[in-house]
Amino acid sequence: MSFQNPVFIPGPTNMPEVLRKAVDMPTLDHRSPLFGQILHPALAGVKKVLKSETAEIFVFPSTGTGGWETALTNTLSPGDKVLAARNGMFSHRWIDMCQRHDLNVEIVEAAWGAAIPADRYEAILTADTAHEIKVVLATHNETATGVRSDIAAVRRALDAAKHPAMLFVDGVSSIGSMDFRMDDWGVDIAVTGSQKGFMLPAGLAIVGFSPRAMAALETAKLPRTFFDVRDMAKGYANNAYPYTPAVGLLNGLKMASDMLLAEGLDNVFARHKRIADGVRAAVSAWGLRLCAETPEVYSDTVSAILTPVGFNATAIVTRAAEAYGVAFGVGLGEVAGKVFRIGHLGSLTDVMTLSGLATAEMVMVDLGLPIKLGSGVASAQDHFRATVAQPMKAAA
Ligand SMILES: *Cc1c(COP(=O)(O)O)cnc(C)c1O
Repeated sequence: MSFQNPVFIPGPTNMPEVLRKAVDMPTLDHRSPLFGQILHPALAGVKKVLKSETAEIFVFPSTGTGGWETALTNTLSPGDKVLAARNGMFSHRWIDMCQRHDLNVEIVEAAWGAAIPADRYEAILTADTAHEIKVVLATHNETATGVRSDIAAVRRALDAAKHPAMLFVDGVSSIGSMDFRMDDWGVDIAVTGSQKGFMLPAGLAIVGFSPRAMAALETAKLPRTFFDVRDMAKGYANNAYPYTPAVGLLNGLKMASDMLLAEGLDNVFARHKRIADGVRAAVSAWGLRLCAETPEVYSDTVSAILTPVGFNATAIVTRAAEAYGVAFGVGLGEVAGKVFRIGHLGSLTDVMTLSGLATAEMVMVDLGLPIKLGSGVASAQDHFRATVAQPMKAAA
C-alpha cells in the first residue's frame, strides 16, 4: 500500500487535510468549559446534517456498530419483536446483533442487489394488528451491494398500515453523502459513524434519537451501561461525558459538520451523484454490470461491480493493493468473490476518481479480463467534462 494514493474503499474515507489537523489536538481537560465549546457545536452540526429539529444527538467513542447497539439496547426489551430486511452484509449484521440480544426478528429476505421491499413491510405491518412489532429496521445504503433503499417509502408503509412501530435507520454509509431527512421521514433513530460521510478516522458512533425514541428509554429492559444514553445526556448537561471523550475526534466532527453545511447539503449530495455517475459510466464502458439491480437503487456512495462468472473478483482487490498500492473493497458475504467495490464517498475529486478508475483498468487487464485500457476512464472523463460547469466546491 502507498500512503500517497487515495483509498477507494467505502469507509474509512479519504480525509481532507483540514479535518486531519482538526483531529490532531493537544490534550485538554475534558471537564473544563473548553470541552463544551467543542462538544455542543459538534452535536448541533450533526443535528443539522441529519435534518432534524427535534432529535437528541449522542456521540460515543465507538463505531457504527456501537451505534446499532445504542439504538437497540436503549429502546427495547428481551423478546421484543423487530422487523428487518436482509439484502446485504450490513443489514445481516444488524439482524444478527438483534438476535444476540434476544430480540425476535421477523426477517424479510431480499436479493443481494435489491432494495428493502417496502410493500412487504407494509403487508407484514398491516397483518400485525396486535402491534407486536416494536421497531422496523432499515439500512439506508447497503454498503455491501451498493444499493440505496427508499426510506420515505418505508415510512409510507408504516403510515399506510397505521402501525406505531418506531423506525430505526442505519445511515452509516449515506449520512453526509446522500439525501437523508430524519424528521421528514419520521426516523426515530438514525445511526452513523465518523469514518464515512464525515471524512474522519474511525472512532465515533453517532446517533440521533427522536422524542419517541427518548420516551422508550424508560421502558427498555435490555442491559446497557457504556451505551446508556441517559448517562450520556446527564454528562452533556454538564459539558461532560460519563467517561473520557474522544476530544480530537469530536473537534473533527464539529469541523466536518461545518464543512458539509458550508458547502450546502444539496451540493454535497450533487457532488456525490456526479462522481458516482462517472464511476458508473466507466463500469458500463468496461462491459460490466453493477450488483444493484436497477438504476433507481444505485448508491451514490459505493458501487459493487459484478465480475464475469468464474472469475474471482477478490483477485482485483489483492492485485491493486500489491501492484499499485491502491485499495478497493472486496465482496462480502453472499457476494464474496463475485463483486469488487469502488467506494466513492467523502472527500473525492474528479481527478482522484479518474486515478482509481485507471488503476482498476490496469488491474483487470493484468488479470486477463477483456477490458480496453482507457475505456472506462474516457467515459468518466466525458461525464466529468460535460458536467463540470455546474457549481462544485472543492472538498478542501
Ligand atoms: C460501515 C458500515 C457499518 C459499520 O460501521 P463500523 O463503523 O465499521 O462499525 C454499518 N452499516 C453500514 C451500512 C456501513 O456501511
